[in-house]
Amino acid sequence: MLKPKSGSFPLSPTISSRAPMPHSPFADRGRSYAVKELFKTLQGEGARVGRAAVFCRFAGCNLWSGREQDRADADCGFCDTDFVGTDGPGGGRFGSAEALADAALACWGRADGRRYIVCTGGEPLLQLDAALVEALHARDFEVAVETNGTLPPPPGLDWICVSPKAGTAILLVRGDELKLVFPQAGADPAMFEDLAFDHFFLQPMDGPERAANTRSAVDFCLAFPRWRLSLQSHKMIGIP
Ligand code: SF4
Repeated sequence: MLKPKSGSFPLSPTISSRAPMPHSPFADRGRSYAVKELFKTLQGEGARVGRAAVFCRFAGCNLWSGREQDRADADCGFCDTDFVGTDGPGGGRFGSAEALADAALACWGRADGRRYIVCTGGEPLLQLDAALVEALHARDFEVAVETNGTLPPPPGLDWICVSPKAGTAILLVRGDELKLVFPQAGADPAMFEDLAFDHFFLQPMDGPERAANTRSAVDFCLAFPRWRLSLQSHKMIGIP
């Protein structure tokens, strides 16, 4: 069993006096999971680029509704992911942790090697809970999460990637990789360098300015080598 990465996270000094947050706004709706899509591909970004993984894209996010008419007022304004509803490939509403873990196992198929699942979104920590982590571990999955870092994680996660969004309060201040979409006004990389992550990545913001953003990120990584460049290689080669 891999050493869990979560369960005893120190709170950021900026939020330590707050009352404990409920784990999830979905928590009292009965245990089911709304999943936009569930698919197998290669991880395209960050420290584990190129690794086979089942991606579980949970529906919903706490920083944007996912509706274009709300984007201007959203806490996160540059999202390029469809996380609304449960109508994507492999998606649906799963009535239990066991049911979702079984679907992930079927998605992985008969491939050899350590099973790996990346829980993403939307914001996966709205729904990912200890029961689901345990059910995935029971099926020999290594469990990763890609989160905006504003919600508390369940215990037992094996890999934590935080992608901070400007103007939001980061709750998750330690983990495996910090992946900052760059540039973001109000989210200078220096703001995150003292957090307890093993890897620090800059990922150029996609969109019409992607080429210029990539040049800026390259220049930044050359000047500040603690930061490494993360490219969205799955988009380059046309895989999900
Ligand atoms: S936090 Fe992530 S999923 Fe949510 S709106 Fe921003 S980029 Fe999209």
